[in-house]
Order: sequence, then structure tokens, then C-alpha cells
Amino acid sequence: MRMINDDLFIEINEGNVVILGPNLERFSDSGRIEPCWAPVFYNPAMKMDRDISICVLSAFQKLIGKRLKICEALSATGVRGLRYAKEVGNVEKIFLNDVNSLAYNLIKINVLKNGLSEKVTVFHTDANVLLAYFARRGRRFNVVDIDPFGSPVPFLDNAIRAVENKGLLCVTATDLAPLMGVYKKACLRKYGAYSIKTEFSQEIGLRILIGYIARTAAKYGVGITPLFSYYRRHYMRVFAQVRIGKKLADKSLSEIGYLAFCPKCGRIIVQKSMFFKKDICEKCEKEMEIIGPLWLGKTGIREFIKDVINFYQTRKNILEKKGLILLSRILEEIELPPYFYTTSYITRKYNFKREPSLPALVNELKMRGFKASLTHFSSKGFKTNASISDIVEIFKLLQNI
Ligand code: SAH
Repeated sequence: MRMINDDLFIEINEGNVVILGPNLERFSDSGRIEPCWAPVFYNPAMKMDRDISICVLSAFQKLIGKRLKICEALSATGVRGLRYAKEVGNVEKIFLNDVNSLAYNLIKINVLKNGLSEKVTVFHTDANVLLAYFARRGRRFNVVDIDPFGSPVPFLDNAIRAVENKGLLCVTATDLAPLMGVYKKACLRKYGAYSIKTEFSQEIGLRILIGYIARTAAKYGVGITPLFSYYRRHYMRVFAQVRIGKKLADKSLSEIGYLAFCPKCGRIIVQKSMFFKKDICEKCEKEMEIIGPLWLGKTGIREFIKDVINFYQTRKNILEKKGLILLSRILEEIELPPYFYTTSYITRKYNFKREPSLPALVNELKMRGFKASLTHFSSKGFKTNASISDIVEIFKLLQNI
């Protein structure tokens, strides 16, 4: 970073762009840095997401074989959209926007700084007004990216309407406390879903978000196919292809349902149905908790994720080991059940003396003919189609090794 005139704003290098952005240290409090305290938002911790998003858009461009018209409706410094303009191949046009005047002016400076005036148009309006204006045949975008600070819910209806048939909708959520069941009422209010705080809440949250996108799209006769989705640290991100058609909308609604969870023994039952039914745990004879509605279908497509990984691997300027680990975990777990357990949870719940090593556990599950994998949702997590009683049996066996 190189200081210029006034150090409230400084030059920041990210990927192939140089932007003028907030000097976060100048907006910190007693050493604590919160990107939202700066007059224009910039979060260096989201760099990896922007790197991955560039690879997702590249893979998507390859998939549809068209020059992309992209809209990033909440742009802040513009870093994300400017990087798309520079780093994704075959981009025709990018529309950036922010309702905050300072952000709008900063984006305009950053467009000039990167020599992108031909490709990028900057707007200064409410994201919903912009998206609604473009939500018409002939005006729609190939890609709409909603990357807010907080919940994407207020922008989703118009975002979906502004994506052309077979286009890509990219959505970030950072309101993890509601999605992961810390604030249950807020989750009900915003996402119309019941979440709980438990060992696998990261996946519950991501699936509630996808389910909500699918239900919102269905209102407009639009179906969705998640191509790639993930959770990391303080955010969740979904990339879904949208397809216009009532039957396609019905098809994606059929991927929504509930999880019945027994907090006493950890048993989980998948209920793939628009309406939930009460389930009694056969072991504990207690009523199970109902979580949802949420997306029970796949959160990504294997071939597409492989392409994302290929793009990530060939990009020397963004390639990071932790990014590659994240992507390969996502690929590994894509066909497994819509929940996971952690070794610490089973050890605690069933009073085991030792927590088995994850690779040994996954190996043992596979040896016995079950499907099993690690998961990107948790460093102690594993996914398997084995039942809770089979898992406990294998834990017993691994105690003596
Ligand atoms: N996508 C950016 C981060 C965006 S932060 C990145 O990758 O760095 C969210 C931005 O949305 C803020 O700059 C805020 O000013 C803007 N914003 C909030 N509500 C808005 C609205 N209704 N319309 C347009 N912009 C809005």
C-alpha cells in the first residue's frame, strides 16, 4: 500500500487492480478494525471471496459461451466489479452502483485509475431501483452480483428479475447470527425459516439461504440451479443459475424441505416435502426438532466446481493453498447428505474418552462401504450416509486403535 496526500484514503493493490480505498487503521477504535466503520466499505478479508468469484464467473462464461454483461449493484469502492472487468475473460460491460455519494465518487475515480471507462458504467441510486429498471426483456444481465454488508434479502426479488434466462445470480450473506440460529426470530422474519444453533448450523444457514432464493425465484416463475456455494468465516456465498419457466420453478421448489433433528442422540431425518411432519426419534422416543424450510438438493455441480478449481489453479496472482483446500473440500462433499457431524460432538454426546482423528474416521467409514468425506463447513466435520448408530459403532472401534 502506498500513502497518498491524505491518509484517510490510500492506494490498495488487489488482484490486477489498484484502487483508492479507506485506510482502515484511521477508522479503527482501540486497535479494533471494522471495515463498516470506514465511510466507504472495503474488507480485505473478502479478497479470497473476490478471487474465487472471479474463477466462478470465468467458469460461467465458459459454460454459456457468451460475452458477459454484469451488474454489481452494491459496489462500495468498486473493487469487486473492477476486478471482474480486468480479470474475467470476455466481459462486455459492467454496471457498478452505490447509493452512498462518497462511494459513488470513489468508484468513478477507481474506474479512471484502472483505465476501465469503456467497459464500466457507474450509477448512483438505490440498488432496487437500478435492478428493477433492468428487469425487462432485452435489458437483463448475464450476471447479477448482490454483495451487501448484512442480509441480501432486501435486494433479492429485483436481482432475480434482472438476470436473463440461464444467467447467473451471485449472492452474499453476512447475517450469520440469524441464519445459524443464534437469532431465531430474525431468521423467521427475514428468511421465513426456522434455524437452530447446533454443530452443523453453518450448513443449515447456507441451505436456508439457498431455499429462500429458490422460493423468491419461484414467485416469478423462475427456477434455480446452485452451481457453487460455500460458507467461510463470516459469510455465505451462493452462485445459482436461473432459468425462466414455471415447471423449472416447481422443480427447484421440490428440492426444498426440512431436517428433523434429535438433540438427544443426534439423529437426523431428511424430509423432502413442502410441508413438514412431526417425527419421533425411534431411539429416544422424543419429538424431534424441525429445521427449515431449507434447500435439500445439491449446493453445487461437480463439473462446474472442477472448472472453478482449474481457473483458480492457473491464476498465479490469486492462488493460495487455503483457497485450494477450500475448493477441493467443496468438490469432495458435493454428493453427500445435506448435514454433517463433528468428531467433538459425537465424542461429547456419547462420552467417548478419545476423539478419533478425522482421516481415520472417514477412512473407516469408507472401508465399511459408506460414503464419507471431510467438509469445508468445519475443520472437525465429516459427512456420511452412515446412520448415527453406525457412526457410534465406528467411534467405539476407533477408541482401541
Ligand atoms: N461489494 C463490495 C462491498 C459492498 S458493501 C465489495 O466487494 O467490496 C455494501 C455497499 O452497499 C455499501 O457501500 C453501501 O453504501 C451500499 N448500499 C447499501 N444499501 C444500498 C442500496 N439500497 N442501494 C445501493 N447501495 C446500497
